[in-house]
Amino acid sequence: MSEGPDLPPIPSIGEVLGRKEHFIQKVTTVIRCKQCEGKYTRIFQNGDYTFKKLDNENCPECKKKTPSIIVEIYSEWINPKKEK
Ligand SMILES: [Zn+2]
Repeated sequence: MSEGPDLPPIPSIGEVLGRKEHFIQKVTTVIRCKQCEGKYTRIFQNGDYTFKKLDNENCPECKKKTPSIIVEIYSEWINPKKEK
């Protein structure tokens, strides 16, 4: 990035006031791989529930589909405008 004269954009008042309405719910599923015992997360998918057994999840550690179990599901409210 160059050190140009460009100033960062200043958010308008309206944008700040209306921010709450722009939050979206993001649900994350925490999965434990039975093969490497590692935990990883992915976006919640329909039908997910805690302690559900999964036969074919892509474990990022094992780098293949492994038997896994859902250990936790949590949701958070994120502001998509803040994400880059
Ligand atoms: Zn694994």
